[in-house]
Amino acid sequence: MLIIASSNGAIGMEHAMRALKSGGSALDAVEIGIRLVEANPEEHSVGYNGYPNILGELELDASIMDGRTLDSGAVALLRGFPYAISVARQVMERELPHVFLAGEGAERFAREIGAEAWDEMLTEAVREAWRKRLAPTRLAQKRLALDLRDLPEDAPLLGLVTMATDSERVVGTVNFIAIDANGEIASGVSTSGWAWKYPGRIGDSPIIGAGNYADSRYGACACTGMGELAIRAGTARSLVVYLKMGMSLGAAAWQAMMDLRDLGGDFIGGMNLIALDRNGEHVGMSSRAGAGYIYQTADMDSYQECEREVVRIPERWGSQARE
Ligand code: ASP
Repeated sequence: MLIIASSNGAIGMEHAMRALKSGGSALDAVEIGIRLVEANPEEHSVGYNGYPNILGELELDASIMDGRTLDSGAVALLRGFPYAISVARQVMERELPHVFLAGEGAERFAREIGAEAWDEMLTEAVREAWRKRLAPTRLAQKRLALDLRDLPEDAPLLGLVTMATDSERVVGTVNFIAIDANGEIASGVSTSGWAWKYPGRIGDSPIIGAGNYADSRYGACACTGMGELAIRAGTARSLVVYLKMGMSLGAAAWQAMMDLRDLGGDFIGGMNLIALDRNGEHVGMSSRAGAGYIYQTADMDSYQECEREVVRIPERWGSQARE
């Protein structure tokens, strides 16, 4: 039994491991671990009290994958429901021939199944952080002379988003991957996405194959960082395919990171992944130095932190990248 997670998963690790030890499935462990992060008001990149989009609305993305069957469930742009990972799991488990629901449809589904809804998803401190960053000060006033709290429906946001949402700004996501007593693997990812993102922007976290992939026969991978990159390179699935082709875990993870170097364009930020294989080997990689991840096996009393190996991706941001 093994669980690996992004470092912000620490708050959920103990409960997730307890679930595994008491006979729970890898899926149970992943969901339990992630829910605790989603409910944590101190975590501003996942679930309740995450940093909102440029209009001050919190839109959550999450996905979960069952490596036994390659079944998966995902939600995107979910508003008003803190436990996006549980709604994603229900998308997978209810009698529904779909794997991915977004926006109003996802919210309708969440209501229909009686998912826990919270009236207030942001604290005043987070609203204030949004206000300070965007409304109506420097960016809005300088660029467009607009107050974001009182925008006309068709107000242009493009200039604001590229200024507010750069690769150094607040981003984050939680990843959990577990192997249970039967050797089955599951993975889950949940996020509030990029702080100050364009409304309706969906990252890699709810996209199976991009930010999340699990196959009990080989292994699993989950990503954090600039989701646009993992979407374009199909990072999580690529790593698992590399395992399937016979690469070691280290080589597969390195190759999945190296693939990101092929991406052109003006917006290239940072990328991180964690992965494990069916033998219980695990690895973390990042395009930036200093990042870690955590793991715990059944015989450990608590989780341990490991450093991620660094695979650099040349970063560039906006039109200045061409200058
Ligand atoms: N991958 C997430 C996204 O692009 C954000 C992050 O992990 O920092 O939505």
